[in-house]
Amino acid sequence: MFCVRCGREGPTYENLCSVCFLENNVFTSVPDHVDLVGCAHCDEYLIAGKWGQFRSLEDAVRCAATTSIATRKGAKVDEINAEILPQDSRNFLVTIDTKVKYQDLLVSEHLETVVRLKGGVCPRCSKIMGSYYESILQVRTRDRALSEEETERILKEIEAKVDDASKSSRDTFISKVEEMHGGLDIYLSSNSLGKSLSRDLVEKYGAEVKESSSLVGQKDGKEIYRVTHLVRLPSYRVGDIILQTERPYLIGGIGSKGTRLVDLRTHESMNISNADLRSAQVIGNKDEALEAVVLTETEKELELMDPRSYKTLGVKKTQGFKRRGEVVRAFPYEGDLLLLPNWLQKKE
Ligand SMILES: [Zn+2]
Ligand SMILES: [Zn+2]
Repeated sequence: MFCVRCGREGPTYENLCSVCFLENNVFTSVPDHVDLVGCAHCDEYLIAGKWGQFRSLEDAVRCAATTSIATRKGAKVDEINAEILPQDSRNFLVTIDTKVKYQDLLVSEHLETVVRLKGGVCPRCSKIMGSYYESILQVRTRDRALSEEETERILKEIEAKVDDASKSSRDTFISKVEEMHGGLDIYLSSNSLGKSLSRDLVEKYGAEVKESSSLVGQKDGKEIYRVTHLVRLPSYRVGDIILQTERPYLIGGIGSKGTRLVDLRTHESMNISNADLRSAQVIGNKDEALEAVVLTETEKELELMDPRSYKTLGVKKTQGFKRRGEVVRAFPYEGDLLLLPNWLQKKE
């Protein structure tokens, strides 16, 4: 046998002598880049389609690089030496020296690749995280069930806030939502999330919050508590008409500092602390106001036709009251008609 290139006599490999054959062939190769997915919550890494545990990131990087080595058909990798040179916290240059056997030849080759670390969640953790929670936000309403419309609106608001917060913290999520007892139970990944969401509800709806916690176990020698934030929304909403100390008031606005009430007999408005309104009783809503035809009007009084009985009914005008047409809007209370304030005289 002789080499078809240099004519040397001796054993040949694909018609070449060993020198010519080795000059013209490579036996191993690696891609330019190898992506390594690491679980954000544990020490598992995804390599060649399989999740596995590694003692260190370095071990996982080495494994990702060496697993990516492709060998020529018929060649067998005998020895691998990989060195890792971190370029930054997520990119690692890996230099690999291999010894490869091909038939009776022994070849040394040098390879280089960059392993890029990517974030991910392993299936095990995504399962654990899926039902994991540190805090429950219970949303209830005093004296009545949460309506479907309120439930939907509050849930949407909470989901939007959690979504926003999760952009800066991966560990922020809603585990589970349960609608129950005329309210909502929202299971949250962290207690600080429960705290800030309940604070938002206080701010926006004048709710009260009660916190309770229970010991659920230990982790790294620290006791783990699960905190329940029970948020009670007031029984009234903006636009409701309530009885407070036996006087009818319209709820003009609700905030963390208090609730704005409009006295329906005088149209005077005032702020009352939410705590002072706990015994308030809802008797209706502005939308239940009736339209009454004005028969005559003097400086101080209106004579209305009561739409309930078609009888004439005298009603005292409040200071600055202005009607917008032949009818006025008034809330029926006992035998009276209570004029709605000016800004509600026109139907929205
Ligand atoms: Zn040759
Ligand atoms: Zn994991």
